[in-house]
Amino acid sequence: MHAMSSPALDLLHSVFGYASFRGQQQAIVHAVAEGGDALVLMPTGGGKSLCYQIPALLRPGTAIVVSPLIALMQDQVDALREAGVAAAYLNSSLPPEDQREVERRLLAGGLKLLYVAPERLLTPRFLGLLERIDVALFAIDEAHCVSQWGHDFRPEYRELTVLQERFAQIPRIALTATADPRTRAEIVDRLGLGEARQFVSSFDRPNIRYRVTLKHNPRTQLMQFLDGHRGEAGIVYALSRKKVDETAAWLAEAGIEALPYHAGLDARVRAANQQRFLREDGVVMVATVAFGMGIDKPDVRFVAHLDLPRSMEGYYQETGRAGRDGLPAEALMLYGLSDVVTMSQMIAQSDSADERKRIERQKLEGLLAFAEATRCRRELLLGAFGEDYRGPCGHCDNCIEPPKTWDATVPAQKALSAVYRSGQRFGAGHVIDILRGIEGERMRQLGHERLTTFGIGADMDEKGWRSVFRQLLAAGLLEADAEGYGTLRLTTASRAVLTGGQQVLLREDARPVRSARRRHDS
Ligand code: ADP
Ligand code: ZN
Repeated sequence: MHAMSSPALDLLHSVFGYASFRGQQQAIVHAVAEGGDALVLMPTGGGKSLCYQIPALLRPGTAIVVSPLIALMQDQVDALREAGVAAAYLNSSLPPEDQREVERRLLAGGLKLLYVAPERLLTPRFLGLLERIDVALFAIDEAHCVSQWGHDFRPEYRELTVLQERFAQIPRIALTATADPRTRAEIVDRLGLGEARQFVSSFDRPNIRYRVTLKHNPRTQLMQFLDGHRGEAGIVYALSRKKVDETAAWLAEAGIEALPYHAGLDARVRAANQQRFLREDGVVMVATVAFGMGIDKPDVRFVAHLDLPRSMEGYYQETGRAGRDGLPAEALMLYGLSDVVTMSQMIAQSDSADERKRIERQKLEGLLAFAEATRCRRELLLGAFGEDYRGPCGHCDNCIEPPKTWDATVPAQKALSAVYRSGQRFGAGHVIDILRGIEGERMRQLGHERLTTFGIGADMDEKGWRSVFRQLLAAGLLEADAEGYGTLRLTTASRAVLTGGQQVLLREDARPVRSARRRHDS
């Protein structure tokens, strides 16, 4: 049968030593080898490199691979050379004489693949060189760097439009592991890939079990989780360096092989800890998000988040470091209302542009909705990447033990009207005091004791109200102010609840306890 042998398959066997293509690799290879443009969305580890490496070998000329990561370039080139492929890279880490040697080989037609940093590619000198040679194709790796919506924005990526302007006939293939619909649209738009075929792989990681729990006693909760993973390698993420240090020290004291990792540590300590994590069995790395990029350890059995990650994207990438070997792995995330406030403040106080801050807030809201969800986690997680996954997956906390809900329409109406009546200028703490009818100097001065909503929620304790507010925020029925003070405002969605047109169901696990005092009163 002709499917058993093709030039692409022959190269897969003879050069790369693999038996068969994975997922959509073959279709992508053919499309690009035939001269078509392609956008490839594939999770990390899915096998993106072969999608341009094999077409590079099939087409005449040199393939130019744009890559933002110097370390990755070197790894790729080493691996290709090992396989007998004429490959090289050009970036600032290379001494000038070596750069000239690479250019000489390029001009002589002696290279099949050349990796370049975007800033190098864009120089008039380099573009001039390209005009003097046969270019097989352009591969744009980490294509999400073109997107302002993501975290890895690289302004130079936006100038890559020059490729289609000056080399219109040469196929371009853009690749990324970041697949939310906004990023995808931006890649298509910014890189002029409107005509390109899109190859979207599933981002599902079926062997990872997701669990998201309210944070009440983080150390006990973490310890219980780790008890189920004794002797296994894993990563515990925390937001601040201080918390990383404290948690690592505390775990080590409790007899767990835990090491800290964050940008504030001495480079040598950091490298040593990373090596131990990679080489030894059962090391637990306690880290900030600085840890993990490019870490390829197949047997990471768990990832725990002690604080909210920055976005769904971040959560996906970070939890995705578990279970690369396909064996069962577990992800735990702890979250609380204070996290949301801290994150909002961090966003507000950063020196980012307003547009950036708005994006960050939207991301935080998306994450919060995920945390509070009663539906299948996988459905929401993959949905965030535009994937139409239908749960229940049977392998996340909500599927295994569906959360019970209760009808919180009346408390929600009380909460929303208290926010509205007090002028949408206060944080959850004060509004809860209004609802519970807590008297005091400030209350009197503000005249809030005279509000019709004063004391209408005295039948619920503070914890209960906090949970209601957190879930209203997560459901988009309330929003926190842009300035990060935690001031609450109604949203367009709030109206349907206030007018009685919409029922509000909240999670039972966060159900408020009725206060005993009130019951005796009535
Ligand atoms: P990505 O760039 O998508 O993260 P890579 O291209 O680095 O992924 O590939 C991930 C791993 O999978 C590599 O070790 C690679 O050699 C391996 N791999 C890729 N394609 C295949 C295949 N068809 N068969 C077996 N292994 C493959
Ligand atoms: Zn599920």
